[in-house]
Amino acid sequence: MAELNRAQTVTQTYPRKHLLAAALCSAAMVVALTLLPSPDATATKTIRLDSPVVSAVPTLLEATRDIMAEMEEKSAIQEQQAAEDLATEAADSALSAVEPQEFWQTQTVRSGDTLSHVFKRAGLNGQDVQDVLDAKGDVSAFKKIHPGQQLRFDIRDAGLTALEYVISRTESLKLEKKEDGFHASVQTQELVPYTSYAEGSIKSSLFVSGRKAGLSNSMTMELANIFAWDVDFALDIRNGDSFKVIYRQFYLNGEKVKEGEILAAQFTNQGKTHTAIRYETDDGNAEYYTPNGESMHKAFLRSPVDFARISSHFNLARKHPVLHTIRAHKGTDYAASRGTPIKATGDGKVVFAGWKGGYGRVVILQHAQGIQTLYGHMNGFARNVRAGSRVNQGQVIGYVGNTGLATGPHLHYEFYVNGSVRNPVTVKLPQANPIAAAEKAEFSALASQMQSQLATYAATIRSENVARVDVNE
Ligand SMILES: [Zn+2]
Repeated sequence: MAELNRAQTVTQTYPRKHLLAAALCSAAMVVALTLLPSPDATATKTIRLDSPVVSAVPTLLEATRDIMAEMEEKSAIQEQQAAEDLATEAADSALSAVEPQEFWQTQTVRSGDTLSHVFKRAGLNGQDVQDVLDAKGDVSAFKKIHPGQQLRFDIRDAGLTALEYVISRTESLKLEKKEDGFHASVQTQELVPYTSYAEGSIKSSLFVSGRKAGLSNSMTMELANIFAWDVDFALDIRNGDSFKVIYRQFYLNGEKVKEGEILAAQFTNQGKTHTAIRYETDDGNAEYYTPNGESMHKAFLRSPVDFARISSHFNLARKHPVLHTIRAHKGTDYAASRGTPIKATGDGKVVFAGWKGGYGRVVILQHAQGIQTLYGHMNGFARNVRAGSRVNQGQVIGYVGNTGLATGPHLHYEFYVNGSVRNPVTVKLPQANPIAAAEKAEFSALASQMQSQLATYAATIRSENVARVDVNE
């Protein structure tokens, strides 16, 4: 509670923009050694100096959330812009080589466009669209045109003779008219994978440190997600916590075009180090495991609502606030404002979604291992949540309300193991499946290889005084 109050005060005193600015200025100096992709693998040293520390950042642990939200918002806009720029750029460069130019015209897909709209703007008609869709080869990409993409038409006296649709930076669909109609082919450019290593120590917020180490916000978010079952990133982060991460990036013509996945990561929180190794199982699913092969995540989330306050604990001999009689409180109450999303704490099947006496609107989920969870007093259910439907861990199943016997908006959450009720806050949560026995040996070899890489890169960083290393695979 003290933590929450303090955060509220901070938020009032420092507007969000100010907090963000303060956080971003807290960097003292960032020196990055980048072995960037070049055919001869020449090492280049990049030195970037940020503004010096102006003042200590106020309690940013809680404010991190605001910063995260703001950054996400910004990066979503930037990503969209970047995607549009990419499409334009790719179209320009891909087409500059095509001769002769005078027959070619470019049309950019606008919001709400269908293929017919774009063709019409190019002076073509419905028959032309049909001819193109009847082309020999795969033209399914035309079903997914989106704003910002470009189509180039080669139109001569005889009509449309060729067409190019730039799908992405690495892919374009080319059509050419021959005697028997159009022939289509998708042309792809190969991305070059690079393994990168970054590390950082947290001074103000994870996102600021991630950025200083050269990680994008989405990569930092991914890092937080991997450790989310062990570390509460809203409340548990302390100055001096640190991370190490090996991840993949993809380059095209020497330029980074795509981020890949985190291959291994370490997070040290309040002196305790957690290690996660990514492993792709034989059935093609990728998961993160501890070096011992335990899953990084639990089969259940501890709490079905984010950032909520427990307003009433599990208590089998409680006086009921509405009925004023001794009546067991068989669950945990989370106070949250009406409409707050409620998440399924584990994968399962909806066995009940409807009205049930004092519970009001309630959802009951059946999970593996004889576990059931119950979510009461809901304001409403999420779409597609009805008896028989399947839900995944973390999926929103409904919204906080005060239906049934409730004094105010809150979620009443119950947890049953083989029919007997347990305290949701203290019950031992089952681990998600560990590495299968058949894959244990292969995983262990990978895990020790990744751990020694983490150590080697960390040593390189120490000797070079840098924050990030990139190595051609
Ligand atoms: Zn309750």
